Amino acid sequence: VKSEGRNGWCFYHAEMDAVVQQRLEMEHELRSALADQQFELHFQPLLNLDSGEVVSFEALLRWKHPHRGMVSPGEFIPVAEDSGLIGPIGDWVLREACRQAAQWPSPWRVAVNISPLQFRHGSLPRLVKEALKATGLDPRRLELEITESVLLADEKHNLKVLNTLRDMGVRIAMDDFGTGYSSLSYLRAFPFDKIKIDQSFVRDLPHDQNALSIIRAITDMAEALGVHITAEGVETEAQMDALKAMNCREAQGYLIGRPAAAIEAYAEPKAARAR
Ligand code: C2E
Ligand code: CA
Ligand code: CA
Ligand code: CA
Repeated sequence: VKSEGRNGWCFYHAEMDAVVQQRLEMEHELRSALADQQFELHFQPLLNLDSGEVVSFEALLRWKHPHRGMVSPGEFIPVAEDSGLIGPIGDWVLREACRQAAQWPSPWRVAVNISPLQFRHGSLPRLVKEALKATGLDPRRLELEITESVLLADEKHNLKVLNTLRDMGVRIAMDDFGTGYSSLSYLRAFPFDKIKIDQSFVRDLPHDQNALSIIRAITDMAEALGVHITAEGVETEAQMDALKAMNCREAQGYLIGRPAAAIEAYAEPKAARAR
């Protein structure tokens, strides 16, 4: 690494080494994070815009690193996926989400993010069944969020897994809709219960005509297909108004509530929350 001379390669290699080193270190730390109880779930509400009621919460994984503070899932999930640790971590998330949701008022559902790699071992239906049984959560109160990459790889096998889960009564949502290459063809391949419009479209509301047209097209299509739809990343009243005008029925975002460890605040009577 040092011998390449002063042509920029030295610097480049040194940086590469640092990146690789950091990744190895994180992988090492992730291995003990589960046992050391450094993971925690935060929950973010999803609001039904017709009724004004919270209908469910998405479980979002948080890593309380002993020295670095909160590490974002965008940073450590890819490392967990590369190292195979997503298996045990994902299973913990599933169990913990079901355990907590079983204590909530019964109409509330919980949504759990599932990595494409959790499909690979074929044991997902069994793990879900075990989590439901151990916690006593009604399967109809569990929703799994998947991205289209699940169906990109090993489509036949994964479709079978999805159908098995759905037959158990678990709901299946397509996450980050509109960001992939072939979101539309997957709507044909599998009867999703819900699609979540990616926050990149919502961000450009209410003035961007393209974003408006795309969201309108998605909501119209969802209605024709009988699929529920949620808009993600709603941060402003103006965005919310635009979504309501397009007959979007469900929303999630900082305007409604940030992800938090405690959800008691949402158990207040509806009138207390009305804006
Ligand atoms: P996602 O599933 O698309 O989750 C939504 C992300 O948007 C969350 O980021 C959430 O905190 C953030 N968010 C919510 N409302 C707003 C808003 O109004 N504005 C903005 N700018 N952001 C908003 P987070 O918690 O950092 O998670 C990032 C991603 O990490 C998630 O994206 C998901 O793909 C992944 N992830 C999180 N928890 C898990 C998990 O338990 N398992 C797996 N496999 N992936 C997870
Ligand atoms: Ca999600
Ligand atoms: Ca999403
Ligand atoms: Ca995402």
